Amino acid sequence: MSIIKILVCGDVEGHFKALFSKVAVIQKKKGPFEYLFCVGNFFGDDNTEWKDVKAGRIKVPITTYILGPNKKEHHCYYPETSCDMAPDIVFLGKRGCLTGCSGLKIAYLSGIEQKESSNISFSKKDVTELTNSITDPIDILLTSPWPQGVTKYAKIPESSDPSETGSHLVAYLAKQLKPKYHFAGVSGIYYERLPYRNHQVLQEMSMHTTRFIGLAPVDNEDKLKWLYAFNITPFCSPSSKELSDTAGPVTECPYNIEEIESQFFYDMDASRDRKRSRNDDGNSSKKRQHNPVTEDKCWFCLANPDVEKQLLLSIGEHNYLTLAKGGLVKDHLLILPINHVQASIYLGEEEENELNCYKDALVKYFHDQRKDVVFFERSSASPHLQIQVVPISKSKSSDIKENILEFALKNGIELTELTKYALVKQLVPPKKAFFSIEIWVDKKKKGYFISLKESFHCSLEE
Ligand SMILES: [Zn+2]
Repeated sequence: MSIIKILVCGDVEGHFKALFSKVAVIQKKKGPFEYLFCVGNFFGDDNTEWKDVKAGRIKVPITTYILGPNKKEHHCYYPETSCDMAPDIVFLGKRGCLTGCSGLKIAYLSGIEQKESSNISFSKKDVTELTNSITDPIDILLTSPWPQGVTKYAKIPESSDPSETGSHLVAYLAKQLKPKYHFAGVSGIYYERLPYRNHQVLQEMSMHTTRFIGLAPVDNEDKLKWLYAFNITPFCSPSSKELSDTAGPVTECPYNIEEIESQFFYDMDASRDRKRSRNDDGNSSKKRQHNPVTEDKCWFCLANPDVEKQLLLSIGEHNYLTLAKGGLVKDHLLILPINHVQASIYLGEEEENELNCYKDALVKYFHDQRKDVVFFERSSASPHLQIQVVPISKSKSSDIKENILEFALKNGIELTELTKYALVKQLVPPKKAFFSIEIWVDKKKKGYFISLKESFHCSLEE
């Protein structure tokens, strides 16, 4: 069994002596720790002790990994790229994933959120590239800023809530990477929330939880906790599964991925627009959010060069099949029309027939894999039709219809069952958004529901 001992500290702000003397004591008493990670500002207003660290006069007891600067005035202390800055002090670099001994995976992002990436800031591009580059499960995520909204469903800090002004992109990153632990600094307080789930109960397979911990500055006057010691079993370890399940209270995930994604998505469009048309008269991204996404800007139109072609599985005459990015399950797929069609009710006959062929083929394919399938569509979730294909192992799918109905009832979602010959397009008024879900068990359609509830209203505008 590979349990690794880790230390994480908050903003050091130049208090190197205080940090490393405390770490040395803990290392002696409770060690050996494999790593010390520092989040937040490593340098401060007074960095006179730094020369002693560099010269080895202040001993660094454990290999220490630090994030990049958050302030312009600290940039001068850092090398251009990730490397050793002093004996046993390693600068991690702007963003990336470190694989430690025993396969421990640590994802990290330096700097603060800004529109443009710089040596003290990260942008959407950094976050997208980081999430795209990571395929293995992440054990620990290190960021300087707090994620926006992390206190939702949990105790709110007694002082002002740093998550209110936290980073949307860090929330997005945490939601995508689903680390076991996420550490952040720069807020001046210590905060540890209840672990949150990374799956939706009854809707998704259960998985590990995430613990978010915000650490206070080193040696702070208020004696708030700034050094956090814990044991972790890496995901890659054979004993990881049993240990990752959290006993005790957990909360729902505080981050609304659809909200973040829609903001992310539309903002990306806005920035791309700016590049395309320099003469733009300065439409705000907020205004754009209500503008329909046209084909040249749509990420799901196959003609768009930005479509993620490496995820494509099959291209038909009218539709295509692709792996879902950040799917609910490993083999979560999407069926999408090649052309820009907003919802299934607007498909032409041929397009619809082919889409049904894809569904039939997938039902059979997954049946052979001992899986049943749920298809669903949220017409308000995207400007381009996406049929979500979620295979569920037969060992877990026997009560799937009942579970879905129970979940809907609990959450006030009105589901109407469609009769055999009813069509969604007959039930949905023009331009109204809807949600539909089809449940296939043993190659038979076991349930077909639609919801037109208010909450699914959206701006299906012309
Ligand atoms: Zn499209």
